[in-house]
Amino acid sequence: MQRGTFQLMKSVNKSIVLNTIRIKEQISRAQIAKDTSLTPPTVSSIVRELMEEGLVVESILGNSSGGRKPTLLHINRELYVIGVDAGPETIDCAVTDVTGKIITRISNVLSENISKEDFLALLVSSIQSVVNDKYINTSKIIGIGVAMHGVVDVDTGTSLIAPNLHLHDIPIKSRLEEVFPYMVKVENDARAMALGEAWFGEHSDTDSMLAINFGNGVGAGIVIKGELLHGAQDIAGEVGHMTIDLKGDICSCGNRGCFQSYASGPAIASRFSNKFHTKEALTAADIYEQAIDGEKQAMEHLENTGEIMGIAIVNVIHTLNPERIVLGGGVMKSKQFILPSLIQTVEKRVLTERAKNTQIVVSELGDDATMYGAASLVLVELFDQQA
Ligand SMILES: [Zn+2]
Repeated sequence: MQRGTFQLMKSVNKSIVLNTIRIKEQISRAQIAKDTSLTPPTVSSIVRELMEEGLVVESILGNSSGGRKPTLLHINRELYVIGVDAGPETIDCAVTDVTGKIITRISNVLSENISKEDFLALLVSSIQSVVNDKYINTSKIIGIGVAMHGVVDVDTGTSLIAPNLHLHDIPIKSRLEEVFPYMVKVENDARAMALGEAWFGEHSDTDSMLAINFGNGVGAGIVIKGELLHGAQDIAGEVGHMTIDLKGDICSCGNRGCFQSYASGPAIASRFSNKFHTKEALTAADIYEQAIDGEKQAMEHLENTGEIMGIAIVNVIHTLNPERIVLGGGVMKSKQFILPSLIQTVEKRVLTERAKNTQIVVSELGDDATMYGAASLVLVELFDQQA
């Protein structure tokens, strides 16, 4: 689908109807009118438009015991979105349908010291190869969402600082729009992941949610009523750089004692090595394996990490008081060792009894959470009334 198609979604009522159909999965026109308080003629005319645009399709269901069979509407599942999880080690690219089902995917390794031009060229060729898949009808592609580590200017779709690639000012959106005729959205990877959690992770019942990714770094995103919170200066959700120890180690950001320098995968490994003077260089995954094997030091180290995470999460609860906190990333594979002490710490430290009800859950989207997040950047544009 050409760029600009969805600028026609200017009617708030239209996006309300579209969203109602999406959330209910299948629904009759009469039920939409009841749920939205719009008049039946208004609903009918909006549905007609949505069907003409190919966003909504109908199917005849129900029993045939006389009278008219009820016609149910649902979102056209043959619409596609491209989600790209770009870096720092690989470019993972998938085509999903609007329900998040992956149709085709590809992963390309980023070489060390890659140049800006080579990065953009690999990004384009990765997308090109999934677009060319024989199962994809390119006229049904809605847009491209790119989740990029580091600092992103969302308005221009530029990667301002990509620290792990040692690159800056990468014009992702403008380059992709030169090559592809689709809408392009670029967002920080942790924020995209948070949006993906809200969109695909069964959290649509939640008004306020924070998702934290524990990987090579610690990133997070805040989703309020289905929308990402960016903040006045665009740094809302940077919980990885919240100071939790005045005298702690120097973080990649230059400050001392950031949460990230305790709870990222590499930080968990280096704290373990320092504490127990291990000879070989361990990774957080090795420590998890040791804990699984019943090694006491490894188990205690992960429990202690859970306690530190709990302290940071209490700070977040006291600042934002979200309904739900979703924990994701490779580190959370150790959830059996981390989660009990984390939750215990939260329950011990939060200010009120009621705040103990904050739901703390581990992501079920796994390693693809960020790619789903990238796809959701486009879906939000489509379904959001501001689009
Ligand atoms: Zn920091």
